[in-house]
Amino acid sequence: MYNPNLPSCTLCTKNPADKSGSHIIPHFLIKSMVNENNSKGRDKEISHLIGGIAANTFFGRQVTPESIDEVLGRDLTDEELEHNINHYVKDNFLCTACEKRLSVLESYYAENESKITDYQDCQINQVNSGMALLFWASILWRISITNFGGLKLVPKEKDKLRRLLDLVLNEDIEQILQNIQKHRDLISIFNYVVLIDSADTDPTSFFVFINPFQRRPYSIVLNKHVLFFYFKKSHFHQLEQDFFGYEKLINSHYLNPTDSTEIVCKIPLTISEKAKTELLAFKSSKMISQLQIQLNNAFRQNFPEIPHNILFEITSEIITEYIMGETIGQRYSANRFNAIIMDVFLKHIGQNQ
Ligand SMILES: [Zn+2]
Repeated sequence: MYNPNLPSCTLCTKNPADKSGSHIIPHFLIKSMVNENNSKGRDKEISHLIGGIAANTFFGRQVTPESIDEVLGRDLTDEELEHNINHYVKDNFLCTACEKRLSVLESYYAENESKITDYQDCQINQVNSGMALLFWASILWRISITNFGGLKLVPKEKDKLRRLLDLVLNEDIEQILQNIQKHRDLISIFNYVVLIDSADTDPTSFFVFINPFQRRPYSIVLNKHVLFFYFKKSHFHQLEQDFFGYEKLINSHYLNPTDSTEIVCKIPLTISEKAKTELLAFKSSKMISQLQIQLNNAFRQNFPEIPHNILFEITSEIITEYIMGETIGQRYSANRFNAIIMDVFLKHIGQNQ
């Protein structure tokens, strides 16, 4: 039923954005990372979104109580159930028709990506190169539209992607392929390189990671894929920005769109392991500096400045918790941090009396 309070769809800009539960990142890309014990299907996701100093954990509707206990060391509270929101999904930014157009593109990509020819350092799949470009462009656009991970395309870039997607996407796959032929000139101004980590390692060692300040190229880790997206070909030839060592694999042999189907560069195990360690270190250092700012701010409301020894002790206790905490959910929970902070303060107050 028409609801006048709904915003307009961000893709067609015409229909009311009546669709709830639209995926920002297609489920099949992150399935191996978020699904309970690598199970199939939706509603079985367990995902951790790290923002600021703590993490927010989401449990899909069909996750078993045993798995919740394994992650949190306890049941979910009523409050947590109420605020249990899937980080990769958002309501009311698309209309039903546009959601359908995007799902046609995603299903096509998922199906044809799996048909691969394997070479030593790359894979060539059966995805039409124009379709592949639209697929990755649609993810970058959705990330920006929903401000996921703090990434925002500049308005001109965002509009370029929106217009391309709106012009070419259709509910009929054959029509999209025809539109690609017709609008080749519009599609070929964009370029990207996509890498894949094909090592069958622990799914919990994979992430979604976005650095919103990296723009030339836009650089995103999406579970096993790493995407570098260029709005101008000239950016490709400019100095590369550091992205945990993944950028070393970028070269013109892997530049998409190609004349036929998509080419995907495989990430060697040595680069993958080093990059994941660097990525974790980067995330931890961001969390620690956020933590210290918040502690100082909280303390300053009552005292001039937090003594260095207390700040140091709290920080090191929390770092220990990040590494050694009993369960993943506990390790990064805000409640656990509060308990640590209180413990340290109470110990020092006790010493001073
Ligand atoms: Zn729409």
